[in-house]
Amino acid sequence: PSIQYEQMRRKISNGVQEMWYFVSGELKKIQKQALALSPQLATRITRVLEEGVVHKRSLITDIDTLSEVDGYGAWREKEANDLSDLVQRRFDYLQNPEDCGSARKLVCNLNKGCGYGCQLHHLVYCFTVAYGTERTLILKSRGWRYRKAGWEEVFLPVSRTCTDPSGRTHSHWPGRPDTQVVELPIVDSLSPRPPYLPLAVPKDLTPRLARLHGDPIVWWIGQFLKFILRPQEATSNMIQEASVKLGFRRPIVGVHIRRTDKVGTEAAFHPLEEYMSAVDEYYCLLEMKQKVDRRRVYLASDDPKVISEAQKKYPEYDILGDPNVAKTAAVSTRYSDTSLNGIILDIHFLSLSDYLVCTFSSQVCRVAYEIMQTLYPDAAKRFRSLDDIYYYGGQSSHIQVAVLPHHARDMNEMTLERGDLVGVAGNHWDGYSKGKNLRTNQIGLYPSFKAQDRVEAEDFPTFPQVPL
Ligand code: GDP
Repeated sequence: PSIQYEQMRRKISNGVQEMWYFVSGELKKIQKQALALSPQLATRITRVLEEGVVHKRSLITDIDTLSEVDGYGAWREKEANDLSDLVQRRFDYLQNPEDCGSARKLVCNLNKGCGYGCQLHHLVYCFTVAYGTERTLILKSRGWRYRKAGWEEVFLPVSRTCTDPSGRTHSHWPGRPDTQVVELPIVDSLSPRPPYLPLAVPKDLTPRLARLHGDPIVWWIGQFLKFILRPQEATSNMIQEASVKLGFRRPIVGVHIRRTDKVGTEAAFHPLEEYMSAVDEYYCLLEMKQKVDRRRVYLASDDPKVISEAQKKYPEYDILGDPNVAKTAAVSTRYSDTSLNGIILDIHFLSLSDYLVCTFSSQVCRVAYEIMQTLYPDAAKRFRSLDDIYYYGGQSSHIQVAVLPHHARDMNEMTLERGDLVGVAGNHWDGYSKGKNLRTNQIGLYPSFKAQDRVEAEDFPTFPQVPL
């Protein structure tokens, strides 16, 4: 298929979704006013909302079906496999130099003082810089807060041939091209910033990626996670046993509810009902296409109470989840072997779900979403975040391009001309996004469908030694 066809197919689906966010959001506001004035009008609006959502589901299902009947399904599967295979072979080449004694190295320390999701993102950030500078990534993880003995007890080492951080010449970042060993700080104190940081994707892969995937950067990050999270046998067994014990089966929606230390500091509280209404919507959509025997949910949280709450309030659902795992997620006990097993399992099952409902303000859910991309040709739309859009901690600015003009209707909105660049702050999931017009410096709301993500293609090494 042409890149135009693939992008148009995704754009229409996205447009239908955004239109419904807008229409339903506005109608709900009008309904609130109508309730006080005219109960009949309020009832009419309820009916429009009820019938309208069916209309939306039908359209989304049709567009989805289009991708099954257009004859390109097999191509998408193969292209996804081929691309992943190419990137994984490049990683393998980079990570396994013949002569470790002379290899150029980038040393990454897994001691960032934060949670597991945050540390995985730290490690992936190191790896993107290693790839960009063509240096072998050396991971220092002894004394890791989640496992004192180190990373390699849980996951395969990031290299078979080269794990020794020593060398002739050492330097802190950035060093010189001929410095053998460079130490990388955490991204927050990285200076100068290289061009390989997210949201950058390699230019040599961009034409293929932009055709295959709805959000190339998430695919790209997912590939690093695929490489680093290859489990040791014991980890693999642990996952296997948990899966059997849980009775994990699809279809299933993964729900992540981040509470405790996050609420009120880095994110707002969202009641269970908000998550479940998004789950409901997913199943209504799925039921347009297939019979669903049982509505299953995999529920992960750092708040054990929410699992029993869900089981009590939603008896028509199968709620899978382990309150004991959630208990190990409490801040006081978080950095231990048992809590590590818990978070590995939760992220694993979330990523294996058909759809994710969570807050993207949490790195736990973003990691699950990134891994999910390695399991489908394009899983960019398999999520509903109750707060942020996707982002990568420490990323360079997220830029969209206006594809339609917009005239601000009030003080809160901003004006767009076609082609304007917008620095995006967020999507309000009501038809509007917020951002800054980089031409006018105006900050404000604009209809989300009027701007589209720009893919940040950057020059990375192309690894000619690795066959295409
Ligand atoms: P963030 O703080 O949510 O952005 O994510 P981090 O991963 O950086 O830190 C949160 C930490 O809390 C995780 O790494 C876990 O240790 C724990 N945690 C949070 N949510 C869950 C969950 O759903 N399940 C488990 N097992 N642990 C969690």
